[in-house]
Amino acid sequence: MSAAVFEITPEQQEKLAAIDGKVVPARSCGTCSLCCKVVSIAEFQKPAGVWCSHAKPGKGCGIHLTRPFVCRGAYCEWMIAKGLGDEWKPEIAKFALFARENGNRLTAHVDPGNPAAWRREPYYRNFKDWALKGLLRRPHIQIIDVMVGEICTVVLPDRDVTVGAIGQDEVLQFDHGAPGEVKAVRVVKRASLAAPAA
Ligand code: SF4
Ligand code: SF4
Repeated sequence: MSAAVFEITPEQQEKLAAIDGKVVPARSCGTCSLCCKVVSIAEFQKPAGVWCSHAKPGKGCGIHLTRPFVCRGAYCEWMIAKGLGDEWKPEIAKFALFARENGNRLTAHVDPGNPAAWRREPYYRNFKDWALKGLLRRPHIQIIDVMVGEICTVVLPDRDVTVGAIGQDEVLQFDHGAPGEVKAVRVVKRASLAAPAA
């Protein structure tokens, strides 16, 4: 395979310096490569849950010096959240946590080879705690969800709801009940949320 080279602009370089500054001191990916399997990479049309063709599992990236911007700036939460102990390192946990949507959604991207890894302890009880705390932030809730490949399961305090694949033009919508309670969760078109209430 010919080596892929992705140019980094000065503006992206600046962003990367800021992102690198968030990494917990002395923490490094080391032998972990899990994000190169569990998340989708549009630049390579790589779906979630399969290894990137450039990955060298356990050793890193085969195009490390020329990898695309999206890979350089995509640290998992374990790399930047000092409150997450070593058991949260993705190569141990078998899932990688990524925050998105301005921190309003925290997703565990699970290794399809260990699809139930997120249900083990101490992980599962933490997901439940975070789900409740996230809902209590209403109206600006934080969603806690799990992706195995492209299939999404929303973690709620009292149950887990598998909603299936979520398209680029789709979002999760919640019907709220009492504080911390969700009556229903569904996938809807993003555009439909902007429509004025009837
Ligand atoms: S999942 Fe996290 S620790 Fe593992 S290689 Fe990716 S960024 Fe590094
Ligand atoms: S290009 Fe490298 S860093 Fe990016 S997903 Fe592929 S193996 Fe991982």
